[in-house]
Amino acid sequence: MSANWCGEAAAVVTLTFDVDAETPILARGRGYARHATTMSHQAYGPEVGVPRILDLLDDLEVPATFFVPGWVAEHRPGLTKSIVERGHEVAHHSYSHRPPTSMTPEEERADFVRALEVFSAQGVEIVGHRAALWEASWQTTELVAEHGLLYDSSLMGDDRPYRLPTEHREIVELPVHWSLDDWEQYAYLPDPHIGSVIESPLKVLEMWRAELDGMRHYRSLFNLCAHPFLSGRPGRALALRRFVEYALACGDVRFARCRDVAEAAAADPGLTRRPHRAPETDSLVYPR
Ligand code: ZN
Repeated sequence: MSANWCGEAAAVVTLTFDVDAETPILARGRGYARHATTMSHQAYGPEVGVPRILDLLDDLEVPATFFVPGWVAEHRPGLTKSIVERGHEVAHHSYSHRPPTSMTPEEERADFVRALEVFSAQGVEIVGHRAALWEASWQTTELVAEHGLLYDSSLMGDDRPYRLPTEHREIVELPVHWSLDDWEQYAYLPDPHIGSVIESPLKVLEMWRAELDGMRHYRSLFNLCAHPFLSGRPGRALALRRFVEYALACGDVRFARCRDVAEAAAADPGLTRRPHRAPETDSLVYPR
């Protein structure tokens, strides 16, 4: 195997599932807990979507990574175990699913640590993190490094893994992108408004295949982000299955958990280093 992060593969696929359940709705307002239909729409994710997806992954013999908010793990005590015992990775996805950019630095830190405590109490080893709604603050990756995690998966600075220096140490970034997020394809709720699209799974399958072909050409990381409350639904789960079958049939695509990609990336001496920092802004140029 080559020292390159992707080895001999033309592209690497990380199937990731953000098991948000009720949290993105409650983050919009605690009062939504009274909305029975909306709460059931979200509970569908861990209750129906996750078991269906776990069976699909078993059938196709591919590994995956499940990003779970601490609140969800705490309220469904068997959930993380059901994922880990099938050979998949559980990773940190905040505690409350309130986006870091909406919190004070102190609030973000407390939320981050609280999730770690939940996973620790459940005996789940955590090496990676993804910010809620991909709304990382400049502090987010510092927290990831400070708490000894190996990788973050919230930024968009490349389509391949990269080294991200922080004040504490370097971590690996496994970048994401809106084009590989099922939220932009399938999320619909009238209240709270989380999206207003219900696209055809056939269109989504075509889009993801085209992106994978591009990524095989450029040796990229196909970091798919799916949500069990969205992609767990029948037609969408079938499209996901067809996508994995397509990728397997390509013969040059490797499937891996995020932690395995991050470990290979950290060991790759040729991996690009991309320092990041907030741009300096001039209030005369940008008055608001
Ligand atoms: Zn999420």
